[in-house]
Amino acid sequence: MSGAIPILPGPVPGASRPATLGVMGGGQLGRMFVHAAQTMGYAVAVLDPDPVSPAGRAADVHIATGYEDEAGLAQLMQRCEAITTEFENVPAAALTTLAAQRPVAPGPHAVAVAQDRIAEKTHFDRCAAHTGVAPAPWVAITNAEALAQVPDRLLPGILKTARLGYDGKGQISVEDRAQLAQAWDALHRVPCVLEQRLALRAEYSVILARGADGQSVHYPLQRNWHRNGILAVTEVDPNGSAAGPDWAAQAMAAAEAIAAALHYVGVLCVEFFVVDDGSSTGRLVVNEMAPRPHNSGHYTIDACDVSQFELQVRALAGLPLTAPRLHSAAVMLNLLGDCWWRDGQPHSPDWARVLTLPGVHLHLYGKLQARPGRKMGHLTVTATDLPRARAVAWQAAQWLGMAPWPVS
Ligand code: ATP
Ligand code: MG
Repeated sequence: MSGAIPILPGPVPGASRPATLGVMGGGQLGRMFVHAAQTMGYAVAVLDPDPVSPAGRAADVHIATGYEDEAGLAQLMQRCEAITTEFENVPAAALTTLAAQRPVAPGPHAVAVAQDRIAEKTHFDRCAAHTGVAPAPWVAITNAEALAQVPDRLLPGILKTARLGYDGKGQISVEDRAQLAQAWDALHRVPCVLEQRLALRAEYSVILARGADGQSVHYPLQRNWHRNGILAVTEVDPNGSAAGPDWAAQAMAAAEAIAAALHYVGVLCVEFFVVDDGSSTGRLVVNEMAPRPHNSGHYTIDACDVSQFELQVRALAGLPLTAPRLHSAAVMLNLLGDCWWRDGQPHSPDWARVLTLPGVHLHLYGKLQARPGRKMGHLTVTATDLPRARAVAWQAAQWLGMAPWPVS
């Protein structure tokens, strides 16, 4: 939890270094946290084993050890006033070690819940009693007996590993019991959840930031499109037409309840589906949460007066959280490594052409190897309204060889 006394940015009287914030993990989310913290006058130390990690290369200090390395963790504690995490799979035990000596936000318990789908869905079920927004019907599969007792109504379904899944990895769609058994074998019989496969009408996410005092602020509901299990596009509209107003209010209330029940401190993203349930409006279902800023909130850097990364800094440092204002419509396109390949040959995307378009903000994460499916960067298009932002984003997507996304 954040300490009661704020960690003020900038020079510290009598000290030879500025106030320093730490982050576990060196990926792109850590890199954007580093940028936001440094802009405000903090130094940042990153712990990540990769010697050329995106965040490590941007940080003031890079501790290149494993996440559970005692010497590395000791160095991070010695160097930093407070510590956050940029990915949910950081070992919870490492966060517990850090939390014994420094404010850590989000706390080890919240991260532990988010990194295990069984704990996460159990938490969602509990919160649903108050919010009315439940997860997809699911069951835990941890042994052969549980596999045999799967109720018929969960099939067709999606089998997901309880831990370490991301970008659709560790998931297998199954039609029937035979396929389910095969899929569990293919996942090496690790603990899993089986979820009913739902007919999705739309996907949304909510990002909030919550302080140690329990006050929270949030961004508007974001609409997301996935391709091959990976987020492809996020749209957000200041005029609120990205989603029906009821979904926004329900999703916000559900996300706040989920955060409050965890005594959450920091930035939290909660993903939702709107599913067909035979009614004219459909039904809101909670999918999963990320205990950190989220890919669907990258537009906040360019389209809001305070970004999700600045709110992560503020929540960690115990500084005030102000309600963010979306000042532009935005469309965010993920730039996967595929953009660097054409017809099986390496290829340089024509950034000079893309940057002729109005309202285009290019973010590349400093990764040196462009592999298909790898998140290399993102492009945010801002405009006065969503149709204008879409028109520019579609043009950029076409020039970059990206498939168009359906808009309905
Ligand atoms: P990430 O961490 O990148 O958000 P993930 O690997 O943790 O993704 P999920 O969010 O659980 O995985 O699922 C990825 C995508 O698969 C969802 O955004 C959705 O498009 C689809 N999906 C997941 N669960 C279901 C479901 N029960 N029914 C239908 N579609 C689903
Ligand atoms: Mg997801």
